[in-house]
Amino acid sequence: MRIDVVTIFPDYLRALDLSLVGKARTSGLLDLRVHDLRDWTTDRHRTVDDSPLGGGAGMVMRPDVWGQALDACAQPGAHLVVPTPSGRTFTQRTAEALSGEEQLVFACGRYEGIDARVAERHRAAGGRVSELSIGDYVLNGGEVATMVMVEAVARLLPGVIGNPESLVEESHGAAGLLEYPVYTRPPSWDGYDAPEVLLSGHHARIARWRRDEALRRTAARRPDMIKDLDAAALDKHDRAV
Ligand code: SAM
Repeated sequence: MRIDVVTIFPDYLRALDLSLVGKARTSGLLDLRVHDLRDWTTDRHRTVDDSPLGGGAGMVMRPDVWGQALDACAQPGAHLVVPTPSGRTFTQRTAEALSGEEQLVFACGRYEGIDARVAERHRAAGGRVSELSIGDYVLNGGEVATMVMVEAVARLLPGVIGNPESLVEESHGAAGLLEYPVYTRPPSWDGYDAPEVLLSGHHARIARWRRDEALRRTAARRPDMIKDLDAAALDKHDRAV
């Protein structure tokens, strides 16, 4: 998969050189390119913003500079992702859908955001556009939101996570539940014991315990997710928990 990120702060994205995303880049599973929006400015001051039409506080990112940048980075069929607090909420389902794309282009806004015609023009040219929020709060720029989305998408690409099994029972997975609590050695630590069932070696009992804990945790922390569970997908035991 190819991902292009356009930003006025390319250094922000350096963290994507690290860990599993960094390895995915080195091994060629992910072709991630970070671009400086100012490379497409034409004036001496490398200006990317102007005051809002209609007046008001702050500055807005100019469509002409963004247009040049996207023309240079987006291949035909590229899916443009515009991080914005006014977008649809980015979820695991969104990450799954985006992980199937050939190219994603992330447009990192700053100030009051990017002139709305940039997204309109990409759509009008037949490209897909997703305006996405990573949560109901306001950040200073799209870089951190982009890193969140790139990491969530990249870890779903085949080969990025060493053991694909670890994706199966995760929170927000196919079961629609949060993950159960996890423990490791030592079984007894500082007066706290791990649940005995996990030391039993009894696979069916362990699986049952984990399922019950996932349901309990989801009901306690995210009742909204329980409401959305597919009742037909639950077995009789689940319904009794
Ligand atoms: N004036 C905008 C509004 O009220 O919707 C907020 C602009 S914000 C200060 C600057 C940039 O940060 C946005 O263009 C976007 O790229 C990014 N951003 C801020 N909060 C975000 C969020 N919750 N999700 C995704 N991107 C966000």
